[in-house]
Order: sequence, then structure tokens, then C-alpha cells
Amino acid sequence: MFRLVIDQQRCKGCGLCVEFCPQDNIELSSDMNEAGYHPACIISEEDCTGCQMCVLMCPDVCIEIYRVKVEAEANA
Ligand code: SF4
Ligand code: SF4
Repeated sequence: MFRLVIDQQRCKGCGLCVEFCPQDNIELSSDMNEAGYHPACIISEEDCTGCQMCVLMCPDVCIEIYRVKVEAEANA
């Protein structure tokens, strides 16, 4: 499983990560950040394949991705 960390304050809501996620797994929040933009959020961490397309597409380098060990993998 993967954990996506999107810097909510630095994101300018350009939507590139939303557009390019092959899983359609990122959306723009209805909340506004301090700069007045609607920042990107992951919809479901379980559906993220870890392809890193969003990380590569973000012009402001707002997205970090981490692999998270789930219990089944940890016990394998
Ligand atoms: S890593 Fe890939 S699947 Fe996961 S949110 Fe980013 S673009 Fe979508
Ligand atoms: S590509 Fe980057 S700046 Fe644009 S919406 Fe996604 S996280 Fe925000």
C-alpha cells in the first residue's frame, strides 16, 4: 500500500495530478488553503498503485509518496 502526502499549503490546485492519475484517484478539495486554492487530495490510498505519475507531473513538487507495509506483507 502507498501513502501519498500532498502539501496542502503549497498546492496551487492546478489539477495536473488529477488529470494524469491513471486510477482517477486524486481530486481537488472543496476546502481552500491559505493561498486561496483548492488543494489536491487522494481519494483512496488503497487504490493507489504507486505509479508516481502524480509526483512527476506536479510542477511545484508538492507530492511525496511512501510505501506502507500492511500487516499481511509484514508477516509474509
Ligand atoms: S501514484 Fe499513481 S495511482 Fe497513486 S495517486 Fe499518484 S498517479 Fe494516482
Ligand atoms: S499537480 Fe501539484 S500543484 Fe497541481 S493540483 Fe496537483 S499537487 Fe497541486
